[in-house]
Amino acid sequence: MAKRDYYEVLGVSKTADEKEIKKAYRKVAMKYHPDRNPDNKEAEEKFKEAAEAYEVLSDANKKARYDRYGHAGMGQGGFGGGGSMNMEDIFSQFGDIFGDMGGSPFESFFGGGRSRTRSRGQKGTNLRIKVSMTLEEVQAGVSKKIKVKKQVSCAPCNGSGAKDSSSVQTCNTCGGSGYVRQVKNTFLGQMQTTTVCPTCSGSGQSVTANCTTCKGVGSNLASDTIEIEIPAGVEDGMQLSMRGKGNAGKKGGPNGDLLINIEVKKHDHFSRDGMNVIYDLFLNFADAALGTSVEVPTLTGKVKIKIPAGTQAGKIFKLKDKGLPSVQAYGKGDQMINVNIWTPKKLNAEEKELMEKLLEMPNFKPNPGKSEKGFFEKMKDYFD
Ligand SMILES: [Zn+2]
Ligand SMILES: [Zn+2]
Repeated sequence: MAKRDYYEVLGVSKTADEKEIKKAYRKVAMKYHPDRNPDNKEAEEKFKEAAEAYEVLSDANKKARYDRYGHAGMGQGGFGGGGSMNMEDIFSQFGDIFGDMGGSPFESFFGGGRSRTRSRGQKGTNLRIKVSMTLEEVQAGVSKKIKVKKQVSCAPCNGSGAKDSSSVQTCNTCGGSGYVRQVKNTFLGQMQTTTVCPTCSGSGQSVTANCTTCKGVGSNLASDTIEIEIPAGVEDGMQLSMRGKGNAGKKGGPNGDLLINIEVKKHDHFSRDGMNVIYDLFLNFADAALGTSVEVPTLTGKVKIKIPAGTQAGKIFKLKDKGLPSVQAYGKGDQMINVNIWTPKKLNAEEKELMEKLLEMPNFKPNPGKSEKGFFEKMKDYFD
């Protein structure tokens, strides 16, 4: 859309002086102000257009540039340039524009006249708890009952903070609407503004006598048992939130949230790598050489695995789907069994003798062939 000429927007001639421009702008700004034209997109555009025109024409430098080069001289974007101004910029000008008139007639704009959502009471604060879990619990998911101290809605007054129903009255100031309208006389006539009722803070009610239990707050500190469901697959450091399970609000305001910080305890046997669990298996080298079968723990009970003859240290066996489920409930990790060969730390005379005999045997010299995998190849297998 082509921009209109700034002088035309404000309705002034090119020879207009500073005072005339200011006066013209006030007039246009009043006419198209959003308080007077609620939900009128066209008025809002006109209002913004006028603000932009004023921003340029009220500045001697910008005005000179505009007079010489027109809109093309105003550059790309930027305040007062080719881009349009946002509402906040516009209102921040008003102190200047209306300053000599005893203040802006639009001050309610910032006082909540625009935010017409009605709020009863004050939202409760969030409650944080830490939940410690074992890896087995992470595997299965768990429901826990946790004792907490928190603000709970006051039973005698049902959270209202009032002594009884007769002590709750319709707010006299706003008549129960939660808002007050003010009619202000301004230099351009009467302006009607709407603000949140200062007496009841928007609740529309006034309490003449406080509940004796909560002293008017609407909630009390009490012990509570919260039941929480923790899904399978969570990780250490994760935060879950349960809406509305935190501290009760004040004077009937909504509850805060419960924030649950997950801590996963270190496991005796397993370490974790994402959805996979890693188990270190130690075999003596006779078993590794002869082959055997061993029992290994998993998160869901013991499993017997076969160790083939000639198993090398660093071999990784995979137990499919014996890892952890994804927290998104899709897919499952594996258990990785990392083979370590146990070297005896001390030997008696008989053992020593045997060992020395073995050393002379033809198959006891390390002789890695092509089939023995190095570290990187094993890592590749691991991630396959
Ligand atoms: Zn009120
Ligand atoms: Zn109470």
